[in-house]
Amino acid sequence: MDYKAQIISEIDHQSDKLWEISSSIFTEPEIAFKEHKSCNILSEALKAAGYSIETGIGGLDTAFRAIYGDDSKPRIAILAEYDALVGLGHACGHHLIAAAAVGAGLGLASINPKLTGQIQVIGTPAEEGGGGKILLAKAGIFDNVDAAMMFHPASKNLVLRRSLASAKLKLEFFGKASHAAAAPEEGINALDALILTFNNINAIRPTFAPKDRVAGIIMNGGEAANIVPAYTSADFSIRAISAKRRDVLVEQVIACAHAGAKAVSCQLKFEVKPGYKEIIPNRILAGLFKANLELLGRVVLEPDPNERMGSTDMGDVSHLLPAIHPYLAIAPENIAGHTVEFREYSISIAGRAAMLDAAKALAMTTVDLLINPDLLSEAKKELASELK
Ligand SMILES: [Zn+2]
Ligand SMILES: [Zn+2]
Repeated sequence: MDYKAQIISEIDHQSDKLWEISSSIFTEPEIAFKEHKSCNILSEALKAAGYSIETGIGGLDTAFRAIYGDDSKPRIAILAEYDALVGLGHACGHHLIAAAAVGAGLGLASINPKLTGQIQVIGTPAEEGGGGKILLAKAGIFDNVDAAMMFHPASKNLVLRRSLASAKLKLEFFGKASHAAAAPEEGINALDALILTFNNINAIRPTFAPKDRVAGIIMNGGEAANIVPAYTSADFSIRAISAKRRDVLVEQVIACAHAGAKAVSCQLKFEVKPGYKEIIPNRILAGLFKANLELLGRVVLEPDPNERMGSTDMGDVSHLLPAIHPYLAIAPENIAGHTVEFREYSISIAGRAAMLDAAKALAMTTVDLLINPDLLSEAKKELASELK
């Protein structure tokens, strides 16, 4: 029996329903950790197809896990995101990711007789802020999963694009207030420490690698121009090609802040909030996904070395188990995510086509892995060598 043909036909058959799911999530955007309606729509659709549903997994109200098949191995997870951007709605196209994951789930449920193994569709909240996948991983949700996949809409078809590792850093400088005209010599200027910090960072900027990113804004710059600022603070977003390189950059920025504080005798306090790790796209899985996209008639591009990249909590998942986060084009190349224009494309015919192709390719790749579990052992070996 041709499982893949059956999957394609089932997803085509369900295409209007999948588009309706996608459109209703788009129409009522819900931000991180508040995706109650979206979580409900998605889990209900999978339940109707025979999946057993658990909601609130990992202590997250808007997370869910839909399981099909008995407890046999391998266990393949298809991940859904469904959070929107504050103020911009679904300008990252997560409604398409969600509907594609459900579509893949429906396609796989339609295969009868069942293949050996278990399908999990996991609803992962708060990708845009909060790192739902990291919280689910900490709660052990991925412990018994052999591979994880999702798709993301973009402006190109890519299976191997990486993402940047990220971190947030908060700096606070404590000085001493004084009259800026009558007694400046008695003050300790916390704003000067902060300005020196920015200048120190700019002094080392020429040593940065091409994908190193250090961006900062002043949150508190003082109270009034006639008072020596006693307290200032700044927030930094730091990203790099890998979590290792990101950690080096964080240390360098902290050293710049120490130097600024020391120059004017301020006290420095800092807080590092680790963000997301970089994606390690698994080449075995990516190769299968690419071949399936090509079967569906899509041309897949090699990532450009200068590819624009953001960060995603799928990066952290990809450090734990073989994973892919491929991109399907819904918009022309000059249209970036998180814009009103990208949001319009995400509800267009191109958005619908990408969602359906992604659903099919995710399900077809799952079939490849269930039929040939040796590929999973190779994928795991590949990850182990990447992490060395
Ligand atoms: Zn986004
Ligand atoms: Zn996104």
